Amino acid sequence: MARPEPKKVTRMPARVTKPATPSTAASGPVPVEDLNPFNIAQNQFSTAANYLKLQPGLREILMLPRRQLIVSIPTRMDDGSYRVFEGYRVQHNIARGPAKGGIRYHPSVSLDEVKALASWMTWKCATVGIPYGGAKGGIICNPKEMSQNELERMTRRYTSEISMIIGPEKDIPAPDVYTNSQTMAWIMDTFSMTAGMTSLGVVTGKPLALGGSLGRNEATARGCSYVIREACKEKRITLKGARVAVQGYGNAGSIAARLLSEMGAKVIAVSDSRGGIMNTGGIDIAKADERKQRKGTVVGMADTQKISNEDLLTLDCDILVPAALENQITLANAHLIKAKIVAEAANGPTTPGADRVLFKNGTMVLPDILANAGGVTVSYFEWVQGLQSFFWSEKQVNERLEEIMVRAYGEVLRRSKEFKVDMRTGAYILAVGRVAEATTLRGIYP
Ligand code: NAD
Repeated sequence: MARPEPKKVTRMPARVTKPATPSTAASGPVPVEDLNPFNIAQNQFSTAANYLKLQPGLREILMLPRRQLIVSIPTRMDDGSYRVFEGYRVQHNIARGPAKGGIRYHPSVSLDEVKALASWMTWKCATVGIPYGGAKGGIICNPKEMSQNELERMTRRYTSEISMIIGPEKDIPAPDVYTNSQTMAWIMDTFSMTAGMTSLGVVTGKPLALGGSLGRNEATARGCSYVIREACKEKRITLKGARVAVQGYGNAGSIAARLLSEMGAKVIAVSDSRGGIMNTGGIDIAKADERKQRKGTVVGMADTQKISNEDLLTLDCDILVPAALENQITLANAHLIKAKIVAEAANGPTTPGADRVLFKNGTMVLPDILANAGGVTVSYFEWVQGLQSFFWSEKQVNERLEEIMVRAYGEVLRRSKEFKVDMRTGAYILAVGRVAEATTLRGIYP
C-alpha cells in the first residue's frame, strides 16, 4: 500500500500552460496555471465545499483518497525478456457504495492522475445518484507497442496484484483509455480463477457473451448526447444542423459523433492522437469509422482538410466535445473557444482557469461528472443485471439511461441557477452535498 497522505493537503508546484500552437496561442505572456490533475480535482471540490459551508474535518475526509495501491507488474514479453510496469488502483470514497471506476493504459498515467480520476468518479456517481463510490486504476505502458499476448499477461498480473481490494461488493473496474471489453474479460477470468467461481460482477464493460450489458459500449456517448440535447434547449440552439467538433475518436468520441449526427447535427471536425480532420460541409461519420478501423486514424480521409488537435478546439462551431485526455482547454486557449456548449465526454479536459473564462464568455460547459456519466450509469445497470442474472433489452437500458441523465441535468442546472455558478460548480454542489450527507449519517469509525 502507498504511504498514507500527509495530514495537510500538499499541492504540486504550478506548471506553466503552454500555448496550444502558434496559430491559436494568445500573444503576450503565457499565463501560469496548475495542471496537476489532482490539484485541479481538489480545487473543483473546494469551490463546492465553500458554497456548502462544509466543516474543515469533513472537507479533509472527502478530499483525500481512502486507499492508494501501487503495484509492480512483472511481465514476460514475447521475445522472452521481462519488463516491470508500474500500476495503480486508487479508491477515493466508498461512503455511498462500492468503489467504481475504469482502468487506463497510457504512457502518461501517474498516481496523481489516477487520484484525480478516482475522485471525479466519486462525484460523478453522486451527480447521477447511483449507489457507488469512486475509484480508478492505471498502468504506465504504451499498449500501441505491445502485442495482445503481452497485454493479456500484464493485465492478468495487474489483476492478481490488486485482487485483494477489488470485488463485486468492494471495487468494480471498467474500461477507460486504451482498455476495452477484452481487457475486462481477462480481469474477470483472472479474478474468477483465484476465487474458484465465475464472478461476473467484478468488472463492467464486459463482452456481451460474458454478462455484458446491451448499450454499454455506446453508453458514455449516448448519455452525453442526451445532456447536449437538453443543453441546446437552454441555449436556444437547434440541434438539427448545429455544428459539432469532436476531439478524440475512441469509444466516447466516435460514438458521440455518430449519435449527434443521427440526431441531425453536422459534425464538422474530428481528431485522434495523430491529428484532426475538418469539413465545414459535414464529415461522413460512417466513412470516418471505416478509416479509423482500417488505418488506425481518421487523418487522411478523403474530402477532408487536415487540422491539428489544438486548432480543432478553437473552430467556429456550436458544440465542442472534448473526448480525449485532460487539460485540453486551459488559460492559453479558453478565450479562443467559439463553441456555445462544451460537452466533456473526456474526464478533466478543462482547467479551473479556463472554466472561469468560458463562464464569463457565456459558454455552457457540461462538466465531465455529468456529461460522461452515461458510461458508469450503464455499468451500474450491467452490474445489477449480472447480480440478478436477469438481462434487459437495449430499449430498457437506453430508456433508463435517458431518465437518469435528464434528471441529473435538471438537478445540476437548477443548482447552477440557484447559486449563480457554472454547471461544473452546480454539479459539484449536488454531488458533494450527497456524499457529505452519506458520510455524516454513517459517522466516522470508530
Ligand atoms: P479510447 O481509448 O476508446 O479512445 C481514446 C481516443 O483519444 C483515441 O481515438 C485516441 O487516438 C485519442 N487520443 C489520444 N490522445 C489524444 C490527443 N492527445 N489528442 C486527441 N486525441 C487523442 O478512450 P475512451 O474510452 O473513449 O476515453 C476517452 C475519454 O473519455 C477519457 O477521458 C476517458 O476517461 C473518458 N471516459 C470514457 C468512458 C468510457 O466509457 N469509455 C466513460 C467516461 C469517461
